[in-house]
Amino acid sequence: MENKQSIMDIFGMNVFNDKVMRQYLPKNIYYELRKTIDGRKELDPAIADVIAAAIRKWAIEKGATHYTHWFQPLTGFTAEKHDSFLTPPREDGSVLMEFSGKDLIKGEPDASSFPSGGLRATFEARGYTTWDCTSPAFIREDAAGAILCIPTAFCSFTGEALDQKTPLLRSMAAVEEQALRLLRLFGNTTSRKVIPSVGAEQEYFLIDREKYLQRKDLIYTGRTLFGAMPPKGQELDDHYFGTLRQRIGAYMRQVNEELWKMGVPAKTQHNEVAPAQHELAPIYAEANVAADHNQIMMQTLKRVAAQQGLVCLLHEKPFAGVNGSGKHNNWSLTTDDGINLFDPGKRPHENRQFLLVLACILKAVDTHADLLRESAANVGNDHRLGAHEAPPAIISVFLGEQLDDLIDQILSTGDATHSLKSHHLYTGVKTLPDFMKDATDRNRTSPFAFTGNKFEFRMVGSRDSIAHSTVVMNTIAAEAFADACDILEKADDFETALHDLLIQYFSEHRKIVFSGNGYSEEWVAEAVRRGLPNLPSMVDAIPALVTDKSITMFERFHVFDEAELRSRAEIQYETYNKAINIEALTMIDMTVKQILPAVIGYTGTLSSIIQSVKAAGATPAVQSELLRDISALLNEANGAVRILKKVTAEAPTIEDNETRAHFYHDYVLPAMEALRRPVDRLEMLVDKEVWPMPSYGDLIFEV
Ligand code: ADP
Ligand code: MG
Repeated sequence: MENKQSIMDIFGMNVFNDKVMRQYLPKNIYYELRKTIDGRKELDPAIADVIAAAIRKWAIEKGATHYTHWFQPLTGFTAEKHDSFLTPPREDGSVLMEFSGKDLIKGEPDASSFPSGGLRATFEARGYTTWDCTSPAFIREDAAGAILCIPTAFCSFTGEALDQKTPLLRSMAAVEEQALRLLRLFGNTTSRKVIPSVGAEQEYFLIDREKYLQRKDLIYTGRTLFGAMPPKGQELDDHYFGTLRQRIGAYMRQVNEELWKMGVPAKTQHNEVAPAQHELAPIYAEANVAADHNQIMMQTLKRVAAQQGLVCLLHEKPFAGVNGSGKHNNWSLTTDDGINLFDPGKRPHENRQFLLVLACILKAVDTHADLLRESAANVGNDHRLGAHEAPPAIISVFLGEQLDDLIDQILSTGDATHSLKSHHLYTGVKTLPDFMKDATDRNRTSPFAFTGNKFEFRMVGSRDSIAHSTVVMNTIAAEAFADACDILEKADDFETALHDLLIQYFSEHRKIVFSGNGYSEEWVAEAVRRGLPNLPSMVDAIPALVTDKSITMFERFHVFDEAELRSRAEIQYETYNKAINIEALTMIDMTVKQILPAVIGYTGTLSSIIQSVKAAGATPAVQSELLRDISALLNEANGAVRILKKVTAEAPTIEDNETRAHFYHDYVLPAMEALRRPVDRLEMLVDKEVWPMPSYGDLIFEV
């Protein structure tokens, strides 16, 4: 980009957005499509050919050679298969560029290799991708050229969801319908839509590619499986919000430009707490679009890193001993005419609609705490949640002083009569402007925090799609709204019924509210007293998907049926098993082929030194002590790798995925830890020159 080009020039230049649609589509077709995008009418297949022709014209003008149905199967990654626009050559040898309505609407990837959790047998390979016109098509430019990407949903032959997008769209419709019911209760007759919005803050690590390539653990598993702490970690907090180094600055600049072109509104960037850790946040968007934006963002972070001799690690815990990475899912519900259901307004105590919404959200989160926890379950996140750097594996809600006080008033006197006010911030310096503070301070340790006009779910893993956690938030909110409306719509006296319902919900569900330090041991004990679920690992969390409570709710709102939920649980177990298996095998490989040989070599060197010192008539006391220590640890490591090999070989003999997952958790993980301990201590004793891979210090301080 020329320096003089502004963001305004490049933003969205590769997106088939509303402006481009108006330009390329006949007016009547544009209005028809607009109706579908706004959810007012099903797509008329008859206009698909015209739309496809317009997209093709635009894409080819932009230099696109291929198109792809871009989708998000349950692998955790996005998937795509490229087709060029070429037609078969004509008699004179020339070709045309073709892209029909059918090409736009429907794709049929051979779906047998995507996880289905038993929904389809492999001989039933049919799966369909279907155009999602609510998320705009875009062109991605990379080494493969310019590719027209068409966001699609991915379903099986029988219509079961095999992806992240389908349930997300279903859950958006569910919460919209119930939220509209709630709004009507308060006399709102004008809002036509309620849109869940999401802003996903993305954390990541950047390291040098050369060094990355020397670490088998990073290559195969995305995290380090060994590594002693360097003398300095993150204790000085000097990286957080620190000035960007030039190399990182150049990287962020290219990332931003590429994202802007694809219409992703990258907004905030800064260094994070851990050395080599950074964060990027976009401006929020409609949940479905935001989920796509986040996928584009993760891909772009990785691609640009590769181009600049860096590697972007999106793993939740690439390095032990320093903070890991998460993704904050900022979530709100807004009407098409601009009413944010989570906005308390200036006088929250009088805003009964807000109080009902708040009471419903507390009920929803309390009732489905296990499901919300599950929505953040992934293998990497197990190393992060509850490790004093991220929320614990216990769900609670932080509301802040002002709302806590409102609930106090309602529960003690039956009514809220006033709201705590915000105050001026006085710095005591004349030249600094005083301003109004927010009414409430933040709480960084809460997994589900109210932040003024949105809730921030802070548990999600850095690699995960934000789709699933959004599906859960949308659906549990839909259920709570529906339950409240079922009561209030029937009430003879709305005011009294509302008054009683608020008292009932707040008193029953206040136990989910916690304002203290979520990282503390006391909270874990307190949560047990309150009866809140604590699900420390992914294997503990997965069953939440298939409880009666979960199945009943998801079926009621047509987000998942039971078969889909069971298949998702199955996929979760499978994913867990595969990930731990790869980690264990990688550890064994590194130990046997790299670490043990290096240490054995070093003991040989030490022995010869000891011999020659003795021959010279001196006492090699230090050398002998070192050799003794190293030999003892070598012995321990050798014993530990033998045990790890044994349990890793045993795991696959367990037929059932759930049982196997527990075996990996209870036996393989501890065996991995038992191997890591002596190896990390060896790293501290052995000559750096002979250690077979870059150290933590090399990786995170020398980017
Ligand atoms: P905060 O200072 O409250 O953390 P930021 O402005 O840093 O807020 O926002 C964090 C993320 O939340 C950003 O991605 C932002 O776009 C998003 N966000 C802001 N307002 C909303 C909202 N009403 N709904 C959803 N996301 C929002
Ligand atoms: Mg945040």
